[in-house]
Amino acid sequence: MNRRELFKAFVPSSKRERFLPRPPGSKDDFTSCKECDAPCIRECETGVLVRDEEGAPYLLFERSGCSFCGVCAQVCPKGVISEGSSTIRAKIVINPNICSAWKGVLCFSCKEPCLDNAIRFEGLYKPVVVSERCTACGFCVSHCPTGAIEVRANVS
Ligand code: SF4
Ligand code: SF4
Ligand code: SF4
Repeated sequence: MNRRELFKAFVPSSKRERFLPRPPGSKDDFTSCKECDAPCIRECETGVLVRDEEGAPYLLFERSGCSFCGVCAQVCPKGVISEGSSTIRAKIVINPNICSAWKGVLCFSCKEPCLDNAIRFEGLYKPVVVSERCTACGFCVSHCPTGAIEVRANVS
């Protein structure tokens, strides 16, 4: 464990900076978004996009997921989002300490929304996200009744 990880371990999760997943194909620099009336958010076909405090779009998976339709890239007047990406830079993880299936209560709520079949059920009923298949679309997140599906920065 390095110093940063050690520090994080002692900071309550409520005080940690929340990771915000960005639209597929977006750059890291969102300064242009401050001066924009955000057509990406208006036109997003699933309604998953919202603005952060700086005016930049992020995906609110508690609301919906990303279909990778590419509309946000098509309507962005500043070139912040580029078309053609079919993954989101995020890591989706099912926390076994919160997931009810890992505690012995049958639950397959995350299975149906995952069109990529990226959730494997260990021992037939304990879900695990298969990272090689997961696009981080986020559709599974809002279907989990216990909030066990976590969205983390993809550091790999
Ligand atoms: S690709 Fe489509 S669904 Fe995904 S955030 Fe952009 S507009 Fe929304
Ligand atoms: S349309 Fe482009 S510039 Fe405008 S808020 Fe969305 S990402 Fe930012
Ligand atoms: S496991 Fe990954 S690909 Fe499947 S619904 Fe969840 S975020 Fe999307």
